[in-house]
Amino acid sequence: MITEGHTLAISATCSMCGKRVSLGRIYRCDVCEGPLDIDYDYAKIGHASFEGTSGTRADGMWVYRDLLPASPGYMVTLGEGQTPLLKAERLGRSVGLRSLWVKDETRQPTGSFKDRPISVAVSQAREMGTDIVVTASTGNAAASMAAYAAKAAIRAVVLVPADTPVTKLLQIASPGARIVRVDGSFSDCSELAQAAASEFGWCNVTSTFENPYSVEGDKTVAYEIAAALGWRGPSWIIVPVGSGPLLVGIGKGFAEMQRAGLVDHLPKLVAAQAAGCAPIARAFVRNAETVEPWESPHTVAMGIRDPLVGYSVDGTYTLRAVRRSGGQAVAVADEVLLHSARLLTETEGLYVEPSVGVAVAAVSALADGGTIDADDTVVIVSTGHGLKQSPMSVDEMQGLPKIRPGLESLDALRLVL
Ligand SMILES: *Cc1c(COP(=O)(O)O)cnc(C)c1O
Ligand SMILES: [Zn+2]
Repeated sequence: MITEGHTLAISATCSMCGKRVSLGRIYRCDVCEGPLDIDYDYAKIGHASFEGTSGTRADGMWVYRDLLPASPGYMVTLGEGQTPLLKAERLGRSVGLRSLWVKDETRQPTGSFKDRPISVAVSQAREMGTDIVVTASTGNAAASMAAYAAKAAIRAVVLVPADTPVTKLLQIASPGARIVRVDGSFSDCSELAQAAASEFGWCNVTSTFENPYSVEGDKTVAYEIAAALGWRGPSWIIVPVGSGPLLVGIGKGFAEMQRAGLVDHLPKLVAAQAAGCAPIARAFVRNAETVEPWESPHTVAMGIRDPLVGYSVDGTYTLRAVRRSGGQAVAVADEVLLHSARLLTETEGLYVEPSVGVAVAAVSALADGGTIDADDTVVIVSTGHGLKQSPMSVDEMQGLPKIRPGLESLDALRLVL
């Protein structure tokens, strides 16, 4: 049932202590600081809502509007969602899997999956009458927020670590967001965004668990994967993870579909992290109950470089979602993740940023170790485009041959093909 006027979201519940809160401009639980999870009036939500059949392709992710927490009248959309699930035959052969798929989020409006959570968070902020939004970001969420804020005529302030790649800064600056570079980690940016939001009355749309509405956009990835696989759902979904809202959102989406009787099993979720910043994978390997912050983050996978300082409870939330699913958490060294990102491009033609490499490497490691079976259906979520941050270095272009035009000069190169 498509409801034009209002959302079917009814309240939010603290994922840690269970406190129920009413909707509005809410961030974390005011008792325990745990992430809030949005509740819906599921009795009013039928199969068609999950299938998105009452919308059209042009509605993108908003075909799932019954399951999103912003009223459709306030929707701010750039056509995000409805990305293809591509069969990865060559990559599959090279890692020993017969049914490997890539959910290609690089072709979202701003080139990363962040358009899903940001579209929802900016729409909800607009519904609240916000005129200034702020986000802490490692680059992609900011690029997304800048674009959606421009579309909604809302002013945007972005807090990014000072070493954010310049290609990402250009994309954030172009729609007119005010960029402030912070000499610190993503966690420092996050703390500052929270303080600025409460001090200046800005709406914080930071797409970690800080803004509970944003996670709802992430879960639409689950509906699309299930629909593309004929409602069987894959055995495994591999997700590059910083703090983990994308992974948690995908888990929530499948749980909702199971409750509605649309899928019969839940996929095992794999949190793939970079070894230089792997608080969740470390806790998983140690069999720990809670995630501890990571003291000195250092990795080329900047999109997932989140040390969780000050909100390690978010990591614990993600760790629980991984364990509940029967999944895994894996840490991948920089050389390996860079090689793996390039392998995806070389075998499937999909150009991705280094962060995606952790998921490709995790699949390979889990297939090698026999955790993933050769016949399992496995989905890698490809989260961000290579045009934002290349897994190749500019130095590698220095040695390219340069010749005078003419076949003789070309022949003289003796190219080995
Ligand atoms: C944000 C981001 C992630 C991590 O997502 P979270 O769900 O916030 O942990 C992964 N890959 C890319 C490219 C990202 O931009
Ligand atoms: Zn709580």
